[in-house]
Amino acid sequence: RSGFIAIVGRPNVGKSTFMNHVIGQKIAIMSDKPQTTRNKIQGVLTDHDAQMIFIDTPGIHKPKHKLGDFMVKTAEQTLNEVDMVMFMINAEEGYGAGDQYILDRLQSIKQPVFLVINKIDQIHPDHLLPLIEEYRTKLDFAEIIPISALEGNNVDHLMNVMKTYL
Ligand code: GDP
Ligand code: MG
Repeated sequence: RSGFIAIVGRPNVGKSTFMNHVIGQKIAIMSDKPQTTRNKIQGVLTDHDAQMIFIDTPGIHKPKHKLGDFMVKTAEQTLNEVDMVMFMINAEEGYGAGDQYILDRLQSIKQPVFLVINKIDQIHPDHLLPLIEEYRTKLDFAEIIPISALEGNNVDHLMNVMKTYL
């Protein structure tokens, strides 16, 4: 089984950290500065029963200038070409306008969309369920999975569930 997976989410939610964790090498540029990762960066994870090609899609955001506009077009094109989409949010921040902009772009996607709630190491467990309930109303997610990309919590589970969709 193999497939392409696009990762979308607001700047700093942990997209690059996730890619680096699963692929085990520094392929995406990590920074606290938004939009360091300007190009589609592909990381390939191959194990005994699956191959997953991850595409970091940093261009899904409100364009502020012409270059931004080009990036948004590229990113939206990518979304229609992949087999699956991972929408990553930051558990610490909760729902915001930046998320809604992305959610609007995901409404028309026919492929499975995973909601990945990252940075769960930063929140009290009691805060997780309300967050899940809130997002559940926004889009028909194929799966909702909380992780910590930094500490690796639940990442194996996420990968195993993703494999079942390939
Ligand atoms: P991106 O802009 O979505 O690619 O986000 P990055 O991967 O560059 O991460 C932004 C910041 O969040 C970095 O300082 C990361 O170390 C931090 N970060 C990413 N994932 C986690 C996590 O699961 N827990 C915590 N505490 N920090 C994280
Ligand atoms: Mg990044």
